[in-house]
Amino acid sequence: MYKIMTPGPTEVYQNVLQARSIPCTNPDLDLSFVEDYKKLCVRISKLLKTDAETLILGGEGILGLEAACASLTEEGDRVLVIDNGVFGKGFQDFVKIYGGEPVLFTGDYRETIDLDALAAFLSKDSNFKYATLVHGDTPSGMLNDAFAITKLLKSYGILTVVDAVSTMFGEDLDATYIDILCGGSQKVISAPPGLTICVISEDAKEAINDRRTPIRSFYANLKVFFNYYEEKWFPYTMPISDIKGLDAAIENIESDPDILGRHEKIASATRNAVTAAGLKLYARSGFSNTVTAFEVPVGISSEDILLTMRQDHNILIAGSFDVFAGKLIRIGHMGNNSRVEKVKETLKALDITLSKLGFKAEESMAEVFANSI
Ligand SMILES: *Cc1c(COP(=O)(O)O)cnc(C)c1O
Repeated sequence: MYKIMTPGPTEVYQNVLQARSIPCTNPDLDLSFVEDYKKLCVRISKLLKTDAETLILGGEGILGLEAACASLTEEGDRVLVIDNGVFGKGFQDFVKIYGGEPVLFTGDYRETIDLDALAAFLSKDSNFKYATLVHGDTPSGMLNDAFAITKLLKSYGILTVVDAVSTMFGEDLDATYIDILCGGSQKVISAPPGLTICVISEDAKEAINDRRTPIRSFYANLKVFFNYYEEKWFPYTMPISDIKGLDAAIENIESDPDILGRHEKIASATRNAVTAAGLKLYARSGFSNTVTAFEVPVGISSEDILLTMRQDHNILIAGSFDVFAGKLIRIGHMGNNSRVEKVKETLKALDITLSKLGFKAEESMAEVFANSI
């Protein structure tokens, strides 16, 4: 077994694995399941400090993003796609699939979204049904100020969809102005991949109920869940073992009051370590507390770094993809991986790996990290 220090999936604790092996009932016919599901949804909304309703869908995080777009988009709808990263830009594909017309607001990929520039853009064109935003764009370790951005968008009456798959519970997030907030089980939550969390505001429900045309999907569709509790009916048989595991993972978060502080401290010490060694962080602003992305040093291949980490040290870290393929290395320090000992061990292995591959570090990352904690 590798140690997985990737930006999701993360290490799954024993109590979550055990919860997944609890004997199954029939979740369609045993009404206790509906109650348990509802209770878990209420606990998630409470942890997120929102009154908006949480739904848990059977499918990996991408399902939540697609279901949000499918449920809101009608033919010809203009949708503002806020883009300063791979997932940010990727939203345009979902908008197009469901007949919408994406309009990109593209920022520098090294910088967090500039609120003033967005405000200037909106002052000229704000005719959008909804906007999409990524809170933490994982492929580059970019964090956006989702609160300020969604507040601005809502002041124009634009609905807001936020991908918080890699940040939910690892970054402070005020969801007051978010209409559909998406999370995933395998990132900070530290359960296996397989579930997506969608938190839906009353405004979003109203917009979905007021559609002129039917939603063009059954599975990627939030409306089919709207009356599940009243009708004691789910649109498909729910993945009960995944949900039992999620329940235990959420319990771990509930009993971990310093989770945000720990993410912040460990991320900050990781960035110190990486820069002290003479490596370059990709981001210039908007530093994520769940993943650190740095540039592959000149003359070394990302594949060699990842391979050496695996073979010599039994640790999985990640490269990146799309426009960042081969250019960035990412260390995940989210959820159960946001632990001093684990990150220190990873940085120590990375010290040795980079040295073996010919990189002359200015300082030991493991030491700088330990001294920064
Ligand atoms: C992980 C992640 C997703 C889900 O994508 P997968 O790569 O399929 O796991 C969506 N958005 C963000 C920002 C993510 O980090």
